[in-house]
Amino acid sequence: GNSRRIADNSSRHAVRQAFSYAAHRKPPRAAFLNGALLIETSLEPLPLLDWTQEVERLGGRRRDEVWGPRTIDIDIVLMSDVVLRSPRLELPHPRSAYRRFMIEPAAEIAPEWIHPHVGWTLRELDQFLRTTPCYAVIVGGATAEREALVQRVQERVSLRWLRRADSMSLAALH
Ligand code: AMP
Repeated sequence: GNSRRIADNSSRHAVRQAFSYAAHRKPPRAAFLNGALLIETSLEPLPLLDWTQEVERLGGRRRDEVWGPRTIDIDIVLMSDVVLRSPRLELPHPRSAYRRFMIEPAAEIAPEWIHPHVGWTLRELDQFLRTTPCYAVIVGGATAEREALVQRVQERVSLRWLRRADSMSLAALH
């Protein structure tokens, strides 16, 4: 029903698949396979999430272990320039700005897309994540709380602030 409807409503633009990433959790597990899909849709953010979750269910997703092995996991990384914080859905995906496994495939199909948290294009962000061995990202909380934390970190380590946006800060460590 629902998944059929969105298929009629939306058009698929580009797919990037089969990037493989090592799972960083212990004990070592099989690698995850990540891909990105770019679609055009008339759905609002929450109905889109309803749909992706229905697709996960159809794909046999079971949620027995947080961050554990899974058959399928669909995240909404970005939706145009929407910034949204609701209990069910956050846009951009709150951890997308520093996850190479999300940014790399997305950058390949939408390099000019500006990530609203960072203010950089996905190409710039991808380049940053590939070439900067040590970086810190602070997300969540209020701006003032993050700034206070930043100051405490700066008392101990030398770092260069790259971006201080409303919802996150990004820094390179020297
Ligand atoms: P996960 O188990 O990692 O797939 O997390 C799924 C949960 O994250 C769901 O219950 C969603 O309500 C929530 N969520 C918040 N923001 C997003 C997003 N941008 N994309 C997908 N799920 C999201």
